[in-house]
Amino acid sequence: MAEFSGVVVYRKDYRERDMLVKILTDRFGFKMFFIRGARKRGFRLSAAILPFTKATYVGTINDEGLSFISAVKEAGQYQAICQDIVLNAYAAYILGLAEAAFNDGHPLNEWYQKIERAISLIDQGLDAAIVTNIVEVQLLGRFGVKPNLKDCVICHQEATVYDFSESYGGLLCQKHWHLDPRRLHLDRRTIYFLRLFSKVDLMRLGSIKIKDETKDRLRLTMNQIYRNDVGVNIKAKKFLDDIKEWPQSVLNDDK
Ligand SMILES: [Zn+2]
Repeated sequence: MAEFSGVVVYRKDYRERDMLVKILTDRFGFKMFFIRGARKRGFRLSAAILPFTKATYVGTINDEGLSFISAVKEAGQYQAICQDIVLNAYAAYILGLAEAAFNDGHPLNEWYQKIERAISLIDQGLDAAIVTNIVEVQLLGRFGVKPNLKDCVICHQEATVYDFSESYGGLLCQKHWHLDPRRLHLDRRTIYFLRLFSKVDLMRLGSIKIKDETKDRLRLTMNQIYRNDVGVNIKAKKFLDDIKEWPQSVLNDDK
C-alpha cells in the first residue's frame, strides 16, 4: 500500500460497472487505475475520481498494468475549472502535454508541483492562456527542443533586438538575421515574453498581464514551434483552437 497525492486527468467506462481512471500522481507519475464498481450508484469513492479532482489516495501501485485505489484521505475539486469549458480545456491541455512529455509510470519530480501549480493558478483566475504558454515554453526541453532564449545562438552577444529562428533553435541578433530568411519575424514584446516565460518560476508567479495582441502572437509562436518541432497531438488543444473562432455570445451563454 502506498499513500500519494494526485490529480485526476481523465476517466473512461470499463466493462459494465467499472472505470479506468488516469491520475497524475506525485510519486509515480501518470498511472492508470482500475476502479471496481465505480459506475454503480452510491459508489463510496465517486467524489475522488471526478475529473479535475486533487486528492490524497491510498492504493496499490503496480509497475506494469493497472493500479488500484483502496481509500481516499481528502479530496477537493478545482471548482472554477469544472464550471468553465474553456478553463477546463486549458487544464486538460496542460495535463495532456505533461502526459506526452513523461511516459506513464515515470515520476515527474519537480514537474509534478509545477503542473499542479499551473492548474491551481488557472483555477484561481490567472490568465489561462498565459499560464499555458509558460508551461509550453518550459516543457520544450522535455520534448528534446531546447531553444536558446538567452542570447544570440551564433555570436552569444546580448542584443537589444532579437528574432527567433527555428532552424538555429533560438534567438538571432540583428547582425545574424540574414542567416535565416524564414526566421519568425517576431516583435520585441513577443520576444520579451518568450524569454521571460522560459525562466519565470511558476511556484512564485502571482499575477501577469499581457495585451491581447501580444497574447495572440505568443499563441501563434508556440503553435508554430509545437507543430514543427514537437509534433504532439493533444485533443484539448484542437478544442482551444476551435473556440477562437466561436462568437463571443456562445461562450458567455455557457457561464
Ligand atoms: Zn548574433
